[in-house]
Amino acid sequence: MEKIENKKAKILYVDDSETDREIFKRILTEDHFEVLLASDGAECVSMVYQYSPDCIIMDCNMPVMDGLTACAQLKNSDQTKYIPIVLVTGYDSEKAILKGLQAGADDFMGKPVNHEIILAKINAMLRAKHLQDELKAMIVRDSLTNLFNYNYFLEVCKQEFVRSRRYNTHLSCLMLDVDFFKMINDGHGHAFGDIVIKQVALLLKKCCRICDIIARYGGDEFIILLPNTGYKGAVNAAERIQEMVRKTEVKDKAKNIMVKFSISGGISSVLEDNITSAEEMVVSADKGLYAAKDAGRKTVTLYKDICLSQLVVAEMEKIKDFQIIGAKLQEIAKQSKDYYFKNIKALLQDLEKEHELFVGHSLRVAAIATAIARELKLGKYEEEIIEHAGLLHDLGMLGIKDEVRLKKHPLNDQDWVEIKKHPLIAMQLLRPIKYVDEELKIILYHHERFDGGGYPVGMKGESIPIGARIISVACSVEAMHSGRHYQKLKNSAEIFDEFIKMAGLQFDPSVVMALFRVLKDNPSLLAGLKIEEDFLKELKDRFKTEI
Ligand code: GH3
Ligand code: MG
Repeated sequence: MEKIENKKAKILYVDDSETDREIFKRILTEDHFEVLLASDGAECVSMVYQYSPDCIIMDCNMPVMDGLTACAQLKNSDQTKYIPIVLVTGYDSEKAILKGLQAGADDFMGKPVNHEIILAKINAMLRAKHLQDELKAMIVRDSLTNLFNYNYFLEVCKQEFVRSRRYNTHLSCLMLDVDFFKMINDGHGHAFGDIVIKQVALLLKKCCRICDIIARYGGDEFIILLPNTGYKGAVNAAERIQEMVRKTEVKDKAKNIMVKFSISGGISSVLEDNITSAEEMVVSADKGLYAAKDAGRKTVTLYKDICLSQLVVAEMEKIKDFQIIGAKLQEIAKQSKDYYFKNIKALLQDLEKEHELFVGHSLRVAAIATAIARELKLGKYEEEIIEHAGLLHDLGMLGIKDEVRLKKHPLNDQDWVEIKKHPLIAMQLLRPIKYVDEELKIILYHHERFDGGGYPVGMKGESIPIGARIISVACSVEAMHSGRHYQKLKNSAEIFDEFIKMAGLQFDPSVVMALFRVLKDNPSLLAGLKIEEDFLKELKDRFKTEI
């Protein structure tokens, strides 16, 4: 006979006959069930709430509360209605069976009870219960991480909120979101993104207490409810999580790269923030998360601090020179970013000496790309970001083996597999740095092709950031002009032919046109690359673009 589970199933046997109870207990214990006994319906109901049995076998005729009444009561309660009940009666009439089934019983048995039949029935009931439990778990769980889903979270959150308010006990909410997760998906593929999400779920479970409710809020966002915990404890939990995230690396097996990531968070706390509903608690934690992202990510912000700073700002606005002070602070921030990039140039020069990185190439790409951005009238802010991205776009080459990076012969397929990792390696190096958020998107996508055939994602047309389309053109023209150890340099006619041929395929035609205009107006930008007005006019018709 098939047994349902290795784990001992709990069977509650209810009968007013002590002899029957004893016989039943002996038989089922021998069959490896855990057996609970009750002598009437009322005792049965109270034991069900106390012990949550997996199946109930209950006599119909008993004093105090009969089996039909107890059965009806249990089947009317949301908490107990899924526990299977087999009613047992001394007379096996159709009328009795009908009454039992009407009371909600799942099956029926006549006395005297046959050992084989009772075992078969119990196993059938347990199979059904097992399926039901699985279904219930599916309704409240997120299928990717097996954490609770948001609907269930909110339900528990509402109950815990009422408890917190009523008994004046602490309750906090911690909302977390992976930083730059879209880039992880883009750079390593959606399946790898899923692995990162599962890894985060795992480490959250490790960092939280058993009574904390951890849920996947959606996408790369997670939410944790911390009962009996105020800000102090919630901050502790957040720090534990951040520490574990810092230590975590996930291996992208396909690319043979270890990937690190970071996480941002927001915390709200019912009593300390004087929160008035479960929904407000979630919204407030989300505001904290939003502020953490705004502050440069990798950090956790407390909702109470946001409220405080809003108060401070309101006060500050009354101060006469508030705007001026604000502008000065922004200027200082800009100066520190400029200082950062000035030092980056020096670092690149050191790297050129030590690692034969094409620094001259990076400096020239930055200059060409900035000129194209100016030509396309992208504005001063965008120009600066594109210049920075030009400087840093090949930093990831440092992670490529020297024998491939410095190879004198044309690269083979395996070499290209290696080379194509360099945008992802740059992403790993630069992601922890607050200053380069915008630049990162350009660096990651600068080998995408306009026709969708590039890497690492295969983005197409204008969905590729304009900065990346510009760096792609600037990088190619510089490489063709200076030559590479694996490819001989081209003359002017060959370079122009190549760009005309590849406009619309590898390159954005409007960026190619802007490059030609830049070269016409700045012949010194790439020595020897001179463009005549007539050539531009001819191209204007070919590309059907205003030059
Ligand atoms: P930020 O630092 O501002 O959070 O940037 P981000 O790139 O992480 O942006 P955001 O959190 O908005 O991006 C979430 C992304 O998660 C968007 C979506 O493509 C992706 N995503 C959502 N659900 C899944 C999933 O189940 N698996 C994977 N791999 N990706 C998902
Ligand atoms: Mg995110």
